Amino acid sequence: MKFLLCSFSCGFSQAMRTGQKLKRTGRVTLIEAAEAAERFEHRGRGAISNQTGRFERQIHNLFDDGWGTIEDDAAPLETILMDDTAKTIITFNNSPDISFDRTVNPYRGCEHGCIYCFARPTHAWAGLSAGLDFESRLFRKANAPELLIKELSRPSYVPKPIALGMNTDAYQPVEREQRLTRRLLEILSAHNHPVTLLTKSALIQRDIDILAPMAEKGIARVGVSITTLDRKLARKMEPRAATPERRLETVRALSQAGIPVLVMTAPIIPGLNDHEIEALLDASAAHGAAGAGYVVLRLPYEIKDLFHEWLAQHVPDRAARVINLTREMRGGKDYDAEWFQRGRGRGPMANLISQRFQKAALRNGLSSQRPALRTDLFRPRESIGGQFLLEL
Ligand code: SF4
Repeated sequence: MKFLLCSFSCGFSQAMRTGQKLKRTGRVTLIEAAEAAERFEHRGRGAISNQTGRFERQIHNLFDDGWGTIEDDAAPLETILMDDTAKTIITFNNSPDISFDRTVNPYRGCEHGCIYCFARPTHAWAGLSAGLDFESRLFRKANAPELLIKELSRPSYVPKPIALGMNTDAYQPVEREQRLTRRLLEILSAHNHPVTLLTKSALIQRDIDILAPMAEKGIARVGVSITTLDRKLARKMEPRAATPERRLETVRALSQAGIPVLVMTAPIIPGLNDHEIEALLDASAAHGAAGAGYVVLRLPYEIKDLFHEWLAQHVPDRAARVINLTREMRGGKDYDAEWFQRGRGRGPMANLISQRFQKAALRNGLSSQRPALRTDLFRPRESIGGQFLLEL
């Protein structure tokens, strides 16, 4: 995988590439779809455009002045990796509707480029776009291992499962060379600290040698996110994540190594992949998954426009239906941030999804409660040896 490494000062403000936006009805004419298709040229990327982040004072927008040169500025979209000098690495949250209270994220941005990714809007905090910037201008926290050792060493630290790579995928392509996630896992393993992971990458199999012994102690669990079995849809929707087959193989490899795997159907998008719920859970169970979960599509902040552009580009015939069904689950809005409803939606479509999912999970033995990960095995730094940790 090719990527460039540069300092934070790289020019990262890119003009919006297209102006494609859907009408409120979500209706797209064939002419509009064809025009969007002509403008689209970033093969292998999820977002169609690079709209300016919501905190910027100036909005960049290209327009054609009649010379037909609007596309001439487009440089090949290479992946750039920048350093993010983090001051702390464990982020705590008190959201009542998520199952973990702390996360560690070695990277910001994600090259997998899933168009629906709820982490996209976080790129606006760095003055970057939630669109193409999110999937091509990445940040690595090179000092994450040192910070983790330091934070786990605090006398006041109380161990609870760390969700590793929950904001953006800890096994995205740059991890193959950077190996930050692996080092973090080694540190957590040395401390006997519980960890959960969620990924769309087969690269996690590289770290089975660390995860399997942790799972045996009851301190590790993995989630593999699979949203569709349709290769073509996956390629458009999650362009640089592993294929559905590779993800299912990953479920099998992890399960066979004794690591409990939860398959996350995240997100379910009514009118697009909801017809696959049963097939996804059947396939997951057949590959050894121990549990299953889901969230429905969420479209906060910039994701709404990005997702609507994507629909117009890739599935124009279904765009209106998808938008209408999504709004039906959100009380007529594109997004409803209310606790518990944000992941499940409400109304008849949300209820139907919930019932179908529960039934399919039950039929496949994927609905049982999972035992909590152990925290009583935690070893503070003094009992491990600080030098040993630094050598990891
Ligand atoms: S793999 Fe996860 S973090 Fe990465 S783009 Fe997809 S949804 Fe976002």
